[in-house]
Amino acid sequence: MLKVVKFGGSSLASAEQFQKVGNIIRADQDRRFVVPSAPGKRFDGDTKVTDMLYGCYAAAEAGEDFSDKLKAIRARYDEIIQGLGLDLSLDDEFAVIAENFAAKAGSDYAASRGEFLNGKVMAAYLGYEFIDAASVILFDEDGSFAADETNKRMAKRLASCENAVIPGFYGAYADGRVKTFSRGGSDITGSIVARALKADLYENWTDVSGFLVTDPRIVEDPAVVEMITYRELRELSYMGASVLHEEAIFPVRKAGIPINIKNTNHPENPGTMIVATTSKRSKYTITGIAGKKGFVAVTIDKDMMNSEIGFCRKVLSVFEENQISIEHMPSGIDTMCVLVHQDEFQEYEQVVLSGIQRAVEPDAIEVVPDLALIAVVGRGMKETRGTAGRIFSALAHAKINCRMIDQGSSELNIIIGVSNDDFEKAIKSIYDIFVLTQM
Ligand code: ASP
Repeated sequence: MLKVVKFGGSSLASAEQFQKVGNIIRADQDRRFVVPSAPGKRFDGDTKVTDMLYGCYAAAEAGEDFSDKLKAIRARYDEIIQGLGLDLSLDDEFAVIAENFAAKAGSDYAASRGEFLNGKVMAAYLGYEFIDAASVILFDEDGSFAADETNKRMAKRLASCENAVIPGFYGAYADGRVKTFSRGGSDITGSIVARALKADLYENWTDVSGFLVTDPRIVEDPAVVEMITYRELRELSYMGASVLHEEAIFPVRKAGIPINIKNTNHPENPGTMIVATTSKRSKYTITGIAGKKGFVAVTIDKDMMNSEIGFCRKVLSVFEENQISIEHMPSGIDTMCVLVHQDEFQEYEQVVLSGIQRAVEPDAIEVVPDLALIAVVGRGMKETRGTAGRIFSALAHAKINCRMIDQGSSELNIIIGVSNDDFEKAIKSIYDIFVLTQM
């Protein structure tokens, strides 16, 4: 067995957390490749090292004195090094960083140092080889991740390694300039390393015991999902559920490697398995509930719309011309409804509306703001009668008006629209009926 293990920032925020991580790695000799994040928050109100680095670099870029800010960052690492009793000095690394900050090496370079330095500490702590991610993770000139090229290079580099630490979050362009993924991107690095090694498992260690059925800010102490497919996870993370960076699925999905979300503070918990496919049913018919607020529904009415060739295309091209992405499109016989993000739409509202007017001469256009979308996702829905019925009776009982319904053609999800104000109540009532009462 070969496992790639990625540890998030809260798992590596202090020497104490590092020790837990060390114990986890040493407990299983298959855990041979380690991807660390930068040190995260040690307590509520603390600042993540990545944010400290962005702040420090902003000062450098503005030509201000940034030495105190850099010292505070250094103190975070020194505290860990001392707490672990390591014989390691980061003098040379910090001298190079100070020089590069002064030379305005860019905010990606700056942010990436959080993982780079933590990788150095981790490698020293474990006695593993350190491999700079800039030498194995590549970006194309347009900034997109060069997946195949990276896979080849990474596989070749790691083939001869018994074990190694590869810092998360960044890579480099062909000319060596550092580039980061978006925030939370160490998850992607772990997935890339797992793919290159054809690992048996990608363990993603964090501070929760797995993927939760719904948002704990809305439902108190929600149940943990034992097993979820990549596709279900995609649907849920697209709709705002977060535990893993949404792009982290793609590399392992290509190689069919499962991901296990685990809790560094409770390693005994099984966590959540994310798999390509499974014959196991989810415990509650539904796998998860997620949603987002802040949508506008643009409803276009026109008699005999259906027989007008090119009608939809003309409407959609108006949105496209204004660079507005479309979220959903539930439609009727003589109506077409386009759901868009309110913040993207509002600036161009009048241009879009007059564009539609000109393009298709509708009988009426109605704009409804402040809508929330909720996705109820579950591979089990296909085979289970009455799922939609249960959702709508839950909403009716909670006196929530359902403004829109859209069942994905995959039968993997049902999307409902409610007003922003009903968002939390709607999620609670759906959770209650499927998980708490299991009716
Ligand atoms: N340290 C980076 C961030 O805070 C990347 C990561 O933790 O995955 O976003």
